[in-house]
Amino acid sequence: MLFNPQICNLKDEKFRPFISVEEIEAILRNTRNPSPERVQAVVDRSLGLARLSMEETAVLLNARGEEAERIILEGARTLKRRVYGDRIVLFAPLYIGNRCINNCAYCGFRAGNRDALRRTLTDAEIESEVRGLEEAGQKRLILVYGEHPDYSAEYIARTARVVYGVRQDNGRINRVNINAAPFDIEGFRTVKEAGIGTYQIFQETYHPGTYKRFHLGGRKADYEWRLTAMDRAMEAGIDDVGLGVLFGLGDWRFEVLALVRHVNHLEACFGVGPHTISFPRIQNASNLDRTALSPVADDDFIRLVAVLRLAVPYTGLILTAREPRNLRDRLIGFGVSQIDAGTQLEIGGYTEHARRLAQLRAAEKAGESGEQNLHREQFELMDTRSLAETIGQLVEAGQIPSFCTACYRKGRTGEHFMEFSTKGFIKSFCTPNALLTFAEWLEDYAPEGLRVRGRELIGRRTAELDPGRREEVGRLLERIRNGERDLLL
Ligand code: SAM
Ligand code: SF4
Repeated sequence: MLFNPQICNLKDEKFRPFISVEEIEAILRNTRNPSPERVQAVVDRSLGLARLSMEETAVLLNARGEEAERIILEGARTLKRRVYGDRIVLFAPLYIGNRCINNCAYCGFRAGNRDALRRTLTDAEIESEVRGLEEAGQKRLILVYGEHPDYSAEYIARTARVVYGVRQDNGRINRVNINAAPFDIEGFRTVKEAGIGTYQIFQETYHPGTYKRFHLGGRKADYEWRLTAMDRAMEAGIDDVGLGVLFGLGDWRFEVLALVRHVNHLEACFGVGPHTISFPRIQNASNLDRTALSPVADDDFIRLVAVLRLAVPYTGLILTAREPRNLRDRLIGFGVSQIDAGTQLEIGGYTEHARRLAQLRAAEKAGESGEQNLHREQFELMDTRSLAETIGQLVEAGQIPSFCTACYRKGRTGEHFMEFSTKGFIKSFCTPNALLTFAEWLEDYAPEGLRVRGRELIGRRTAELDPGRREEVGRLLERIRNGERDLLL
């Protein structure tokens, strides 16, 4: 149980709105123009593995100048290596249905977008999609849904069970997370019983006025219902929740501070912070009106990722394929711990991928554009590499691709907190499990050249383990080469 005296007076906030615009704006005002020494002192506290207060986070957000910039980015890099090691967890989103009653101005699926092509996968289609994902070697999925009476908690629980049930050859999905509109407590219990991993939902913007401008109708227009969603999820026993902000709606500094406030709230009320934080930036979408947006520039985006890393050292950070590949490759060093790869946003996209690739090549030959059809998808994807291509790049950069789901399957929930709080946990569990799951992927799914390079990386990294673990992992790697699967520590 986490105890932080700074937040112990927040316990009464359970189920109640907890964001005060005045509080956040005052903290941002009072921490303007910090000296490089102050910035260094805050970074040092973070490197001592303390979670930062809102004031300290605001110092990093407000810091200006090259020296301060260098201290923050270097600090985030060091912290990422110290806490998470050189491993990146991989997953893929699976869009189940895009019917939606809401009118979120930025989203291609909004009810008012007449051009959106609506589709909900049948059970047979879900199975076909999952087979496509398993054939690429995916082990962790996040299921994504619009908000619609068709997508009740019971329906969502059923789709999660359908996904878990698809097994072919060595393929199986070991962790199903969900990104779906918030439920009441009973609804959250229903999806928990289906064995979901993380429940993820983004507040989009924590600023009530900005929220109102972009959420023009439907249940999601209710700011407080969304803000208190994680309280209901945790009350229902879901330990792993994923927070997020859609950057590009309001002031990014305000939003980062509000995210930290949300972390405080969950820690105070439930004794555990979020499992992950996501920070999508708005991308082009079907009939998107860009005039009302406040785009976040690349440099600011890098800063906000680094600041989040330092502010909440034990929370996983997710970077999606909304971002272009070069930026993704760069940001991994500043503290990202999970990325999606081989992503298809079109509903039914994994099944139709092969067919569409063939069409694309034919179109290119005929001189036609091979662009995404935005009317079928929620937004435009910037990193369209396959899973194997992304893994190749990670290996090149010396990062270990990981499909690990060991903590979840062995009942070690709240794993990011454990990684942070249990001495040597990453070295003893996370790195070995990353190596084992990557070895399985290499045996079953890798193109030959990548298999060779991947095995070299595994050899180097296994040699760096403590002697006891090194021998144990060596024995397990041998068993994997001999055809055994699902070997975890
Ligand atoms: N419908 C549910 C909801 O709104 O929470 C669940 C999933 S929604 C399909 C997933 C997320 O995509 C949203 O929470 C939003 O942050 C993000 N999103 C929507 N439109 C986007 C856009 N144009 N560019 C990037 N991300 C977008
Ligand atoms: Fe619907 Fe979610 Fe898109 Fe809003 S963001 S329109 S709720 S799918």
